[in-house]
Amino acid sequence: MVSRVIPVDPFDLVIFGGTGDLARRKILPALFRRFCDGQMPREARIIGAARTRQSAGDWAAWVGEALEEIVPERLRTAEHVAEFLDRLDYLAVDAKGDDGWSDLCDTMRADAVQAFYFSVAPSLFGDLAERLHQFGIARSDARIVVEKPFGNDLASAKALNRTLSEYFDETQIYRIDHYLGKETVQNLMAVRFGNVLFEPLWNTQYVDHVQITVAEEVGVGGRGAYYDQSGAMRDMVQNHLMQLLCLTAMEPPSKFDPDAVRDEKLKVIRALDPVEAEDIVRGQYKGSKDAPSYVEDAENPESRTESFIAIKLHIANWRWNGTPFYLRTGKRLRARKSEIVIHFKEPPHSIFDEDAGSRTNVLSIRLQPDEGIDLRVTIKEPGPGGMRLIDVPLDMSFAEALGAEGTDVPDAYERLIMDVIRGNQTLFMRGDEVEAAWAWTDPIIEAWTRRGDRPTQYEPGSSGPEEALMLLHRDGRRWREIGG
Ligand code: NAP
Repeated sequence: MVSRVIPVDPFDLVIFGGTGDLARRKILPALFRRFCDGQMPREARIIGAARTRQSAGDWAAWVGEALEEIVPERLRTAEHVAEFLDRLDYLAVDAKGDDGWSDLCDTMRADAVQAFYFSVAPSLFGDLAERLHQFGIARSDARIVVEKPFGNDLASAKALNRTLSEYFDETQIYRIDHYLGKETVQNLMAVRFGNVLFEPLWNTQYVDHVQITVAEEVGVGGRGAYYDQSGAMRDMVQNHLMQLLCLTAMEPPSKFDPDAVRDEKLKVIRALDPVEAEDIVRGQYKGSKDAPSYVEDAENPESRTESFIAIKLHIANWRWNGTPFYLRTGKRLRARKSEIVIHFKEPPHSIFDEDAGSRTNVLSIRLQPDEGIDLRVTIKEPGPGGMRLIDVPLDMSFAEALGAEGTDVPDAYERLIMDVIRGNQTLFMRGDEVEAAWAWTDPIIEAWTRRGDRPTQYEPGSSGPEEALMLLHRDGRRWREIGG
């Protein structure tokens, strides 16, 4: 594969929370890989900032250890690591006090792109924004990157948007949803809008239903206390699954431009019908002899928070009226698997005998593991014995199709951070989008809280509660297997 890496402009990227888990596991390894690929110019600088007092050398040593642990050996050389660490600087800065801000002001260059990554608790976003302004650090073309969770309901998301907008214009705010940085998610747009094959069929006339699954094998583990305050609806559906839904269902934007794409996504969220109680299944994983139950992980025996949710949705517009979208996500399930699956309708008339069997086309877009796209088409079963129909995959695994380099599909953070430096907001959520998603989510959560619903228990390593299977069975459909 020919590399088409175009270096970005020189930049100063400040990572607030530079000593934290996200910086260590995602942000810094992503920057390192972009560096190795030649995308980072010589003048690029990465400045870690947190309260911990340490020298730039100490921080660089810590980053070096993180790279060794997280970046596979075949993707790094000692020279590359040393050169990358050379670009690092560190300042002790307190979001809640005046410490370190003047130093940061002195450190920033006038002629480099300015980006500030808020990799800290959301409760500090306002403080950081205010101080960047108060100390005259951020220019009017500076970018700020904010991590999820963006609020935990509509009121808090609005408050956060209000606070950030006091100091930054919407064009400067990059709300990350790392699902949007995944290669396959971008490929969903390429497949839809770069081919004539699919778009004419992409509507209720030809699509029977859509399934979006994000299944995880792990439980809530060490994040139990945090997770118990949010649950699968807030942690996954309101953001990640909603974004996947939007990209699947949106109208073609007039061009691949940030506002054109985000306008279309927003229309999908606004067209979502309210969800009836019978169209939602919530679950909590049980314990096993090897692993604790959800309530043990959450250290809350009375917890009513869901670690699994399945929802049947309707989009009330011309394109999708009559085509249900089934979403599910959960923890401690049979396998780690994320996919969007488009189930097309049967042909209107079969020319074959009933014995031939009837088949439907299925297009699946795999996000993880093994990112790729698979289209199942119907053919004749080879050999004698008459006309019997079978499904075969037209499979495009990126790892296979793109050769050895394809196995190193860039991590979502690599793409997204470079987009921040390039000033491209297409794959970031706009403030009104986030608010619309909460406006749809809030009444659903309020309704089950008011009723005092308890999630159903499900076996660890399963596909979730029986009721989730019934959600499709009662419509004469079935979920794709998770695993196997
Ligand atoms: P973390 O490990 O707890 O790190 C928090 C960071 O914030 C540390 O570097 C800490 O350093 C710094 N910090 C705390 N108080 C500060 C202050 N007053 N001024 C300046 N820095 C301060 O958290 P994390 O897991 O990295 O998460 C960071 C953000 O990303 C959160 O919003 C989280 O929700 C989000 N997120 C994380 C993940 C993940 O996988 N970790 C995934 C998605 C989203 P000092 O103690 O030295 O100040």
